[in-house]
Amino acid sequence: MTLPESALSHLACPACERIENADGIHTTCPACGSPLLASYNLEGLEGELTKGVAASKKHGLWRWAGLLPVRRPFYRLQSGLGESPLLRLENLGKQLGLAHLYLKNEQDLEERRLVVALSRALELGLRKVTPASDTLERLASRARIQVALGGFDLSIWQEPYGLEGLKTCALEIAEAFGWQLPDVLVAPDEAMLVAAWKAFEETRTLGLTGEKRPRMVTVQAGEAHPLAQAVLEQSNGISLPVSTEEIASQHKNLAASEGILPSPPGAAGLAVLKQLLTRKWLMPGERVVLINTGNGLNFLRGKNGSQ
Ligand SMILES: [Zn+2]
Repeated sequence: MTLPESALSHLACPACERIENADGIHTTCPACGSPLLASYNLEGLEGELTKGVAASKKHGLWRWAGLLPVRRPFYRLQSGLGESPLLRLENLGKQLGLAHLYLKNEQDLEERRLVVALSRALELGLRKVTPASDTLERLASRARIQVALGGFDLSIWQEPYGLEGLKTCALEIAEAFGWQLPDVLVAPDEAMLVAAWKAFEETRTLGLTGEKRPRMVTVQAGEAHPLAQAVLEQSNGISLPVSTEEIASQHKNLAASEGILPSPPGAAGLAVLKQLLTRKWLMPGERVVLINTGNGLNFLRGKNGSQ
């Protein structure tokens, strides 16, 4: 079974509606500075996406190729990612009084973002990228692309394609629930929040998911990015701040109750959940998914320490 072709059609600015050719090299919107978002010709994709996906789990996150921006398979870097477990947290759910609590247990969410951003950079002919990180250097060494100052900036919000990589995490969640989206999605990372909402809009347009979409929740850390703010408003979502004490406490709690060592953002997401229960913003019977952004061991070892 071959994968569907990328249905990438153009780039669109969500702030000023400017349109750009997707096959040129772009950073942010030249008119207003907002991130540019990848748009797809979804009409051509109905049916193809799920057929390809069902038959091609071995392709990792590229099984979603129709909804990803890399046109030629040659440039799709392999990552080993693309099927992180969706775990039911029974012990923690009982403790919190949530009957349907799940954890999407990512090992390295940043890798999903960079695999797609870097593959697209390669396809567009770029040969030098920045900023240096363990994950980027590992991927770049396989792709024979240089990580150096002055290279094309792959930082989040600075180029259009990393969000598309994060989208695959949300597509897996939707697929795992038989395309019935959860009531609440806690994405502690703002870019993941925006990417998940974009994924659910696309699956709705494709007819895979219905009108109902989750209330989106994130961790408040300073002023929200305008795109994240828009998602919270459209979804009747919320963002709340958490203290370092709450993060440490929920880190221990998840380890003790479920044997899972979350990343600090993952633990922060759980701390937000607890606050939402206290406020009765969440109901006990609702289906809630929390995204853990990485393996807590990596953080303890100092890897991904920048997150
Ligand atoms: Zn713009």
